[in-house]
Amino acid sequence: MSDVPSASDLQGVVYDAVVPARTPWSRVIKAGEVLRLIDLEGQQAVDFLCYSAADPGDRYNSMNTVKVQGNTYVSKGTVLYSDSGLPLFTVIEDSLGQHDTVYGCCSNPNNRLRYGVETTESCYSNFLCELATHGMDRSAIVSNVNFFMQVPIMPDGGAGVAADVSPPGSHVDLRAETDVLAVLSNCPQMHNPCNAYNPTPIRVIVRAA
Ligand SMILES: [Zn+2]
Repeated sequence: MSDVPSASDLQGVVYDAVVPARTPWSRVIKAGEVLRLIDLEGQQAVDFLCYSAADPGDRYNSMNTVKVQGNTYVSKGTVLYSDSGLPLFTVIEDSLGQHDTVYGCCSNPNNRLRYGVETTESCYSNFLCELATHGMDRSAIVSNVNFFMQVPIMPDGGAGVAADVSPPGSHVDLRAETDVLAVLSNCPQMHNPCNAYNPTPIRVIVRAA
C-alpha cells in the first residue's frame, strides 16, 4: 500500500483509528489540531459534515465555501465555512487534488429515485445515527463535502459521479480553526462508482496543534 503513514511517521498523534466500511464516525477536533482522512484502499467516498463545537447550530455551509473560494471543488487551501462565515477547517494537505461538495450524500429515498432500489443503508442513515449520539437530528444534515469523490461539472451543467480512482493512501489534512465537531459517513453506496462497488475502510488520525 503506497504512501500510507504509520503513526510513527507523524508527530503528535492523539488519536488513530480505522473506520470500518459502511460505518459513521465523529469526534470533536480541537482548535489547531489536524484531522487526517486516509482512503486506505482507494476509491472510497467519505461524506463529511462539521459543526462549531461551541454552537452546533452553526454548521458547514457549502454555499459560503463554494462562493468564497469561487470554486466548486474542495482542494488544498480551501476553507470550510459555517453558516455564520466562521472558518471551521482549512485543507492544508491534499494528495488527490479535488473533492466534491455539490452532490450531497446518498440516502434511501435518493437511491429509490435514482436507481429504483430500496436500500436500508446510506450516508444519510449513517449521519442520523452518529448525530443522535450528540443529541442532534436530521435538521443538522446539510449538503456535505464528499472527500475522495469526483463529480466533474460539464459546460452544459451536467454532472455525475465519475469513476476516477482515488489511489490507495490518498489523504487530506484538515486543520481545525476553532473547536469543531466532525461527523463522517464511510459511504456504503453500491449503486454508483463512488466506492468502486466495494466499500472499504478508511483511517482517521488526529494530531495535536
Ligand atoms: Zn454515501
